[in-house]
Amino acid sequence: MTTHLVWFRNDLRVNDNLALAAACRDPDARVIGIFIATPLQWRKHEMSPRQAEFIWQHLQSLHTALAARGIDLFIRQVDGFDESVDFLKNFCETQQVNALFYNYQYEFNERQRDAELEKVLGSDVVCQGFDDSVLLPPGSVTTGNHEMYKVFTPFSKAFIKRLKEGLPECVSSPQVRNALQVETANICTFDYPQQSVDPNLFPYGEKQAINQLRFFCRQRVEDYAQQRDFPAVDGTSRLSAYLAIGVLSPRQCLQRLLSEHPQALEGGVGSVWLNELIWREFYRHLLVAWPKLCRHQPFIPWTDSVAWRQDNAQFVAWQQGNTGFPIVDAAMRQLNATGWMHNRLRMVVASFLVKDLLIDWRQGERYFMSQLIDGDLAANNGGWQWAASTGTDAAPYFRIFNPTTQGERFDKQGEFIRQWLPELGIVPDKYIHTPWVWADIQPLTLDYPRPIVDHKQARIATLAAYEVARKS
Ligand code: FAD
Repeated sequence: MTTHLVWFRNDLRVNDNLALAAACRDPDARVIGIFIATPLQWRKHEMSPRQAEFIWQHLQSLHTALAARGIDLFIRQVDGFDESVDFLKNFCETQQVNALFYNYQYEFNERQRDAELEKVLGSDVVCQGFDDSVLLPPGSVTTGNHEMYKVFTPFSKAFIKRLKEGLPECVSSPQVRNALQVETANICTFDYPQQSVDPNLFPYGEKQAINQLRFFCRQRVEDYAQQRDFPAVDGTSRLSAYLAIGVLSPRQCLQRLLSEHPQALEGGVGSVWLNELIWREFYRHLLVAWPKLCRHQPFIPWTDSVAWRQDNAQFVAWQQGNTGFPIVDAAMRQLNATGWMHNRLRMVVASFLVKDLLIDWRQGERYFMSQLIDGDLAANNGGWQWAASTGTDAAPYFRIFNPTTQGERFDKQGEFIRQWLPELGIVPDKYIHTPWVWADIQPLTLDYPRPIVDHKQARIATLAAYEVARKS
């Protein structure tokens, strides 16, 4: 009998999973699945304990969903990527695997691992990879010179044009296969710290993720353009955690969006949300075109000469939400408490770390990965390089967010700030973004730090540091 093995990685779902669907196409084949945890690699990549927990929970439900279809999922652990190659070779031998199916991962180490595996397996096992975690394959949306775009807007236009020529279709979940003895013993736990995830914010399960997508596209997309920048409002989809580990696919997002709002591709309702999905694609396509981004090198080489400050006390103050700037601190506390942060605030806190504290963006990038439930190398690296003005399509280095006015604009009444900084509860609205001013004019002691930097002076120092680097 022919045996097909599906290697699950960042695609923990049964619906619209290209590798799984392809493996199941032959009704007579025996289909089995495997997931290999690699804690050593996860540590190197600073994967957050919340994301590890989210993966673990979804593996359990994937095991059940596959078992109901007669597909046994083996969950195993090795140290790192090298060991996973050896492990898979042996596994393919013992299970007499004829063909291996997997969905591509675009990060540098992952691609090297896959190439090594294909080499090691040789002609014994036929390997088939799929562009599953993107709407359009990297390298398929290029300039007239067949190069990857360096700026988002023209990329986005070309991307939409390609989508209009042919939409990527979703594939169905596999049919129930001939009865197979499914072993519950095939699940092993992994040796990696795990931290619980709030089920009200991120309910587990593929079904829940699909329901959330449906609800968002039906009820919320219409107001997304007006509400997406205000962290006190529940105006964004919060689907990033599911997209990051592949509980949802971007095709499902696109198809659902278009079924509710067919004009989204033409600039109608839904087009702003579609644009965010395209940002996700942009950063993935960039990783493939410029693998150095995976190694945390800046896209703009001269920015590597910026003389970053080493200031551990300020870095810790930023991490813990004790900078004295309410919008920055509230955002960091939201991240630390939930593993998620609103996009507007990710931009604000990243800008603060890099442009106010002049601390290397890579320190922030690493800290985000260690906390985020939606940690994703491409989006995180892209976001940090954007904020630090070191990347493609970055904000020019002289554009520096003012943390106080950002708070005033996007959390006018301080609703979000009060939620995360209860110690500012007694501060009147008028001073919620400048509590140090209020502290100076009243007799009460405020249990909240004064600003750790003077924004105006920090701005001047940062501009000077970037200018020196640029001229060097
Ligand atoms: P929605 O607004 O509902 O958007 C829908 C989906 O589009 C998101 O789920 C996400 O998959 C994608 N998306 C939205 N905005 C972006 C963007 N700017 N770049 C890439 N994809 C986007 N996103 C991550 O998924 N993982 C990360 O590790 C990550 N790190 C970031 C770091 C910084 C410094 C910045 C500025 C942004 C980062 N983002 C990251 C992008 C963005 O902040 C999150 O995707 C978004 O906040 C997730 O919330 P949502 O699902 O409600 O998004």
